[in-house]
Amino acid sequence: MEIEDINSITVLGAGNMGHGIAEVAALAGYEVNLRDIKEEFVRDGYERIEWSLNKLAEKERIGDGEAEATLGRITPLVDVEEAVGDVDFVIEAVPEKTEIKQDVYGEVEAHAPEDAVFATNTSSLSITDLSEVTDREERFCGMHFFNPPVRMQLVEVISGEHTADETLDVTEELAEDFGKTPVRVRKDSPGFIVNRVLVPLMNEACWLVHEGEATIEEVDSTTKYDMGLPMGSFELGDQVGNDVSYHVLEYMHEVLGDAYEPCPLLGEKVENDELGKKTGKGFYDYEDGDGADIPTDAGSDEVRDRLLAVMANEVAHLVGGNVAGPDAIDEAVMLGAGFPEGSAKQADSAGLDALLGTLESAHEETGAARYDPADYLREAAEQGGFHGGGEDGEGDAYAFETIGVEVTDDMVGCITLDRPHRMNTISEELLDDLSAAIEELDADDEVRSILLTGAGEKAFSAGADVQSMAAGGGDPLEAVELSRKGQRTFGKLEESDKPVVAGIDGFCLGGGMELATCADMRVASERSELGQPEHDLGLLPGWGGTQRLKHIVGEGRAKEIIFTAERFDPETMERYGFVNEAVANDELDDRAYELAADLAAGPPIAQRYTKRAMLAGRGDADAGLEVEAQAFGQLMQTDDLMEGITAFMGDEEPKFEGK
Ligand code: NAD
Repeated sequence: MEIEDINSITVLGAGNMGHGIAEVAALAGYEVNLRDIKEEFVRDGYERIEWSLNKLAEKERIGDGEAEATLGRITPLVDVEEAVGDVDFVIEAVPEKTEIKQDVYGEVEAHAPEDAVFATNTSSLSITDLSEVTDREERFCGMHFFNPPVRMQLVEVISGEHTADETLDVTEELAEDFGKTPVRVRKDSPGFIVNRVLVPLMNEACWLVHEGEATIEEVDSTTKYDMGLPMGSFELGDQVGNDVSYHVLEYMHEVLGDAYEPCPLLGEKVENDELGKKTGKGFYDYEDGDGADIPTDAGSDEVRDRLLAVMANEVAHLVGGNVAGPDAIDEAVMLGAGFPEGSAKQADSAGLDALLGTLESAHEETGAARYDPADYLREAAEQGGFHGGGEDGEGDAYAFETIGVEVTDDMVGCITLDRPHRMNTISEELLDDLSAAIEELDADDEVRSILLTGAGEKAFSAGADVQSMAAGGGDPLEAVELSRKGQRTFGKLEESDKPVVAGIDGFCLGGGMELATCADMRVASERSELGQPEHDLGLLPGWGGTQRLKHIVGEGRAKEIIFTAERFDPETMERYGFVNEAVANDELDDRAYELAADLAAGPPIAQRYTKRAMLAGRGDADAGLEVEAQAFGQLMQTDDLMEGITAFMGDEEPKFEGK
């Protein structure tokens, strides 16, 4: 089955997840059958969709009439045959009970077309076992949405033992069509990726308290303010539901062994019906108490090391077990659990050797299986990290076809777009190279800032390489993909923890300008010409231009630049705020490098959190302010702050270490 063959979708179960998934599918333009066992349940789900669509319309996330049109694509049904008789793709979101799901598959198998794909939204059951109830094991996979589906970006696409690669491919394409980001889980392993990282972390938090090594306040203060996770461990547990974590752990315990033995403290909570927010009480009291009121300054290094070590061990199990690679894990926890950075990356930054040491000594002291280091953790520690070290980050460590990458003694990672014969236009290959280069520089401790320039004197980049793009033959679906790919790639500069400078000399047009937009600062030579000429071609800036430019120049100027499609000189762009500095032609290289080197000498932690807070604040200013506030607290404990203040008092240059 190809994505083009999918026109109609059936969602089984109109509950919490089912109604949300149906809404997402209908918003993406699919005809959706929503099925539940009783008229009132389907109606309930349908009304929740209606409510949610109206909210989206109120907030202007969808246009006039779109709510109604979307609702018009959803058919509420009780009859199974009617629901699946003529459908291309079935997503099952019925209760998390093996018997119920097995019954459902038996029933649906009898009526669904032979080539329809079945996907289950299960959080914890075995995909392989469920597939074996059907006659289409190879056309069966996991499609794990996060709650609420309308808002959460991640979809884990999970392979069962018998799943065909084409099934996974088409399911991922469908998730992308829904506007989501799929992450592939190569093996059917308990907890998939996100829960496999989160739930043992939660369990370890409980063990620390249970064994008297720390208090709930200490653990949550550490998790939230020292590790920078969005919530304290116990706060998160209460949010998810202690029964849910407990059941996932029990399942992991059964399949993966003693390392996942649920802590008795968690068991007690379940027994006492203290399930968290939903029952009014869990680790915190939400009815008679203040809820999760977490002190900002009660964190401890021991707790942090232990939690990071346990998390690194789970990452190692996933990578070593070939369930998912470090990049997939990082993307999944950021999108599915709101982690500010990936778990593999966080473990790399903490140093795998140190984390391995923490596990080994805890294992020696307690003999507990949960501290037994995964074999792959040792391997990764030897290689210098999950992301392959980058220890010797000198120039030739990075080899790419379309770009040059070099790390200088000033800790500047220089990326040069290197297709001067084609005005440094951006091909798909260049996007791939750029994406890999940014990730590598971001993970390299020897790099503190990134400088982006174009080779030759004609252009920074004259835009997309139209010739190579035309190879796509104008296929709209391919174009959507290409747009997303460019958005994602350039976005990595915004998401990078390191300050990014663009040195612009010559043409900086279309995609080239959208790339420069994602830098934190721009220096341009006098001869440069900048602009978004897409409207001249009847296109629109599709690599982020409609969204990102306005954050720099304001919406009025962004519209002017895009709608007039004119070329602007650097002085005008300086006035608009897009160019930070316009300089003489022969000064461009030196000045851009100087600025990047200055930023590389700046305080890395403060820079990182400033970037994150500003980025987080774009869509939601309150979220940005919250990130800013937490980061501010965290910065108080850094050596760099001390260094900065001391140097300021002594009128000297500070030497920031990033500690
Ligand atoms: P829910 O109880 O809210 O909804 C389940 C719905 O399925 C109910 O409306 C029920 O009437 C209906 N149902 C029961 N038997 C059915 C049948 N034979 N045919 C059609 N519908 C039937 O549950 P939920 O929270 O939406 O969870 C559904 C699935 O999604 C579970 O597998 C769960 O593990 C998974 N999941 C849940 C979450 C979450 O946060 N709630 C997140 C990810 C995945």
